[in-house]
Amino acid sequence: MGIKRILIANRGEIALRIHRAAHEMGIETVAVHSTADADAMHVRLADHAVCIGAPPAGESYLNIANIISAAEIAQCDAIHPGYGFLSENARFADIVEAHDIIWIGPKPEHIRTMGDKVEAKRTAGALGLPLVPGSDGAVSDFDEARRIAKDIGYPVIIKAASGGGGRGMKVCESEDKLESLMQQAGSEAKAAFGDATVYIEKYLGNPRHIEFQVFGDGQGNAIHLGERDCSLQRRHQKVLEEAPSPVISAAERDRMGEICAQAMRDMGYRGAGTIEFLWENGEFYFIEMNTRLQVEHPVTEAITGVDLVREQIRIAEGRPLSVKQEELEFKGHAIECRINAEDPFTFAPSPGLVTYYHAAGGMHVRVDSGLYAGYKIPPYYDSMIAKLIVYGRTREGCIMRLRRALEEMVVEGVKTNIPLHQELLRQDDVLNGDYSIKWLENWLDSRES
Ligand code: ADP
Repeated sequence: MGIKRILIANRGEIALRIHRAAHEMGIETVAVHSTADADAMHVRLADHAVCIGAPPAGESYLNIANIISAAEIAQCDAIHPGYGFLSENARFADIVEAHDIIWIGPKPEHIRTMGDKVEAKRTAGALGLPLVPGSDGAVSDFDEARRIAKDIGYPVIIKAASGGGGRGMKVCESEDKLESLMQQAGSEAKAAFGDATVYIEKYLGNPRHIEFQVFGDGQGNAIHLGERDCSLQRRHQKVLEEAPSPVISAAERDRMGEICAQAMRDMGYRGAGTIEFLWENGEFYFIEMNTRLQVEHPVTEAITGVDLVREQIRIAEGRPLSVKQEELEFKGHAIECRINAEDPFTFAPSPGLVTYYHAAGGMHVRVDSGLYAGYKIPPYYDSMIAKLIVYGRTREGCIMRLRRALEEMVVEGVKTNIPLHQELLRQDDVLNGDYSIKWLENWLDSRES
């Protein structure tokens, strides 16, 4: 069924991203916004806008009743949730579909399965994805935990089944600490997620974070669009992402990508998904699957030429994927810098009035952002204000262009992490692609002393 009007249940750059894809397909857009976002760019550009509540996300961007009302009042026939907020809320997806509105996202049952980490791991294992050695499901009994940990060897990591955003994890170095750390992890998980269930995994010492982009049409066809390397993280937040990964060969990409695509075929997966792995010594270990579009999706778009949001909309309309696996080519290299309104040294958020803004431009430079001079960055939401995505035929060329583009970016009135990115792109390890998920924090520590 052809979609005519999409409600964009999000804000910031991703709301704009969805608006752009929709307009390029001749589809109208309806922005929803909190009272703090009345002047936001996505509200200005959308065909219609509906205010859905007060600034705190719980009262607006997470307010299901208000969003559904807005969709009905504005006569939308589809909802795109973007990332974050309600994008991985299976109940919301159910409610959308129950109102005869097209949900531009995966089947609610798949969101539910992958949202529970124990269930997700079990499913991934059954689908043939390589797992991190660990408990087969939840562990509540301490003797069982001790047996499992001994079996896989210390250090182990205790993780919350309902965890997210890197929260609810405890690394345990030795058996004498296992019981108390399990109790701590369980009670923290209970407080944060309302669920004390934990499970145990081998703790990998120095892995990379490598994720595969997948797409399914919901009818048993699926493709992969290669990997992204997102190892440069601070407190489990990605800072800079690249595609392809500097350590993955074409043969390895084809092999692992096909395993992921086959898993999606077997599931009958619909829409965009990301299968996240830790990678160490040439081995992949599944950690989780995100059943939504990712922040870093543009690096994949840059090296494949496929518009992932357009693909999401097509699939939601019941149309097939526009590309076949054998037609996909991975060409060149792309890097994304997440530009945050924050102090580049202390990382304290820096909301407020943007007095001057100049976006980088030129060949193969893309800036996804809702910024403009005179915009007031509200303090209520994520501090990411722009994504700078640069493409080059080679990784070296891409880095040179990225440095040039960062020189051009000007954001005045608030602090940004642009200086951090500039410094990062002068580090030999980054230039050589020689980094793990520990690298950035270690480097930040060494920079302080
Ligand atoms: P979340 O959903 O909270 O983001 P993930 O399972 O994706 O949780 O893990 C987040 C991060 O925690 C990973 O990117 C990695 O840095 C670290 N991590 C998770 N599992 C392990 C493990 N088994 N060994 C080492 N580090 C891990």
